[in-house]
Amino acid sequence: MTSVIVIGAGIGGLATAGRLARQGYQVSLFEKNAHPGGRVSFLEKDGYRFDAGPTLFLMPEVFAETYTALGERMQDHLDLVRLDPTYRVHFHDDSEIDLSSSMEKMRGQLDAIETGSFESFLRFMAEGYRHYNLSLERFVGRNFTSIYQYFSPANIPLLFKLKALIKHADNTARYFKDPRLQAAFSFQNMYLGLSPYDAPATFSLLQYTELADGVWFPMGGMYKVIESLASIVEGLGVRFHYDTPVKQINVEGKRTTGITLEDDSRIPADIVIANADLPYVYDQLLPDDGTATRLSQKKFTSSTLMFYWGVKGERSPELLHHNVFLADHRYRDSFDSIFKDLTLPEEPSFYVCAPTRTDPSFAPQDGDSLMVLVPVGHMDENNSQNWASLEARARNTVIERLTKLGVKDLENRITFEAKWGPPYYRNALNLMKGSAFGLSHNFTQVGYLRPHNRHARFGNLYFAGASTHPGTGLPIVLLSAQLTVERILAEQALPSQRSFQIPSQLMERV
Ligand SMILES: Cc1cc2nc3c(=O)[nH]c(=O)nc-3n(C[C@H](O)[C@H](O)[C@H](O)COP(=O)(O)OP(=O)(O)OC[C@H]3O[C@@H](n4cnc5c(N)ncnc54)[C@H](O)[C@@H]3O)c2cc1C
Repeated sequence: MTSVIVIGAGIGGLATAGRLARQGYQVSLFEKNAHPGGRVSFLEKDGYRFDAGPTLFLMPEVFAETYTALGERMQDHLDLVRLDPTYRVHFHDDSEIDLSSSMEKMRGQLDAIETGSFESFLRFMAEGYRHYNLSLERFVGRNFTSIYQYFSPANIPLLFKLKALIKHADNTARYFKDPRLQAAFSFQNMYLGLSPYDAPATFSLLQYTELADGVWFPMGGMYKVIESLASIVEGLGVRFHYDTPVKQINVEGKRTTGITLEDDSRIPADIVIANADLPYVYDQLLPDDGTATRLSQKKFTSSTLMFYWGVKGERSPELLHHNVFLADHRYRDSFDSIFKDLTLPEEPSFYVCAPTRTDPSFAPQDGDSLMVLVPVGHMDENNSQNWASLEARARNTVIERLTKLGVKDLENRITFEAKWGPPYYRNALNLMKGSAFGLSHNFTQVGYLRPHNRHARFGNLYFAGASTHPGTGLPIVLLSAQLTVERILAEQALPSQRSFQIPSQLMERV
């Protein structure tokens, strides 16, 4: 039986392991932490519960495809609720907009902010629809094994159709004059840790998918996705090894021969797949051939300062399940602070998740559970960053703004608090530079130009996860697992599969 080792039990590692086990491979999975999920994690204390990583469940059809590929039905494992409004966006001048799939609700709100902007919104959504379908079909949902496939004569016009060379913020400004609407339809790049002033306009697909396919919530929380996948994958025969960090990927000539663990034991394998963050894998687990240095010079996504607050007392009616607070007229400068100066903007934008609005079990009856995400620059190896002081400033900003909104006596009602930041991501999850979303997605770091899902020299070493093709975000990482497995099946067929293969010349005659 062909043996496979997967390094990392992030959502990408779980999906890859399960898909291969279902194809008859003998799969072992090694995870440094005590539980699966990686960036998708869960905190619980005194009845207060928190999704500690992702909170937005987008593109449900991609999740459903993964469950199907593992022989299951998503609806048997997840109780999904569609959220509408998807979220409330608060602007610096105290005005707000509830983004909704109801066109009537959108018309009234948009035209109140900018006359005629509802028509622009419809055109913007139509463009997002085109971007979504074209990029999924032609770029995101397929492997590129040669540069000629990527820059093929058929693909070049697509780069223009997808507005890949135009910045998202510039494109949004073509549709909306009011800076608040420009911000409301471009900040979503931050889900991928990108600046709208750097991300390609292709990403208008994000706003489209949110309102058309919806923003969903699995009752019980996002970690339900991980719990269900881990149990399905285990049922398919994958052997899990938790608390078992991999120290090295062993190589000989042009192949990997397996892995070495922290205790120096060597585990052989026919195929190795690294789900751990790809730049870290080149830097720490593979022999130095210069790639790690080149990767470290690429653009990385932002990081985040996270606060998890168990709040005693009333569940403030001012907050919906998802709430976004955007910075003032220095909105553009705030992205420069994050992506160029690698710090916290003077006036940070932030996001608050209050899941009790959908699932009351996230907090005791007389309390609330709030998760706050404040985007911040990733770690800077050339300059020291005072994380404690940035964290304190972010915390004050959030408390002040929520108090201004009407959340009463917040500071004194916080009875439980946990805080995570870039050093946590680097130390706990081995994310290079503590960058929360991995390598960035600017034009030179996507498609064929993104690090490939197979090592250039070691032909049986593969990658699946956020920093390889196609990129970051849960559904996109699930696609990464699918594409990596497709490539393995094409390149490393099991001996049993090989003996049944009919040569292509014969096939043509049949
Ligand atoms: C705060 C935050 C909010 C987010 N919000 C959203 C959202 O709302 N919606 C969305 O779709 N996406 C969101 N994302 C992005 C999403 O979480 C990631 O893109 C995705 O989880 C990455 O999965 P992965 O499998 O590639 O990597 P990871 O989750 O990083 O998994 C890699 C695994 O490898 C393990 N590992 C590392 N080194 C070793 C080693 N040496 N040996 C063994 N194991 C090792 C790690 O412990 C980890 O478990 C968010 C991310 C963050 C951080």
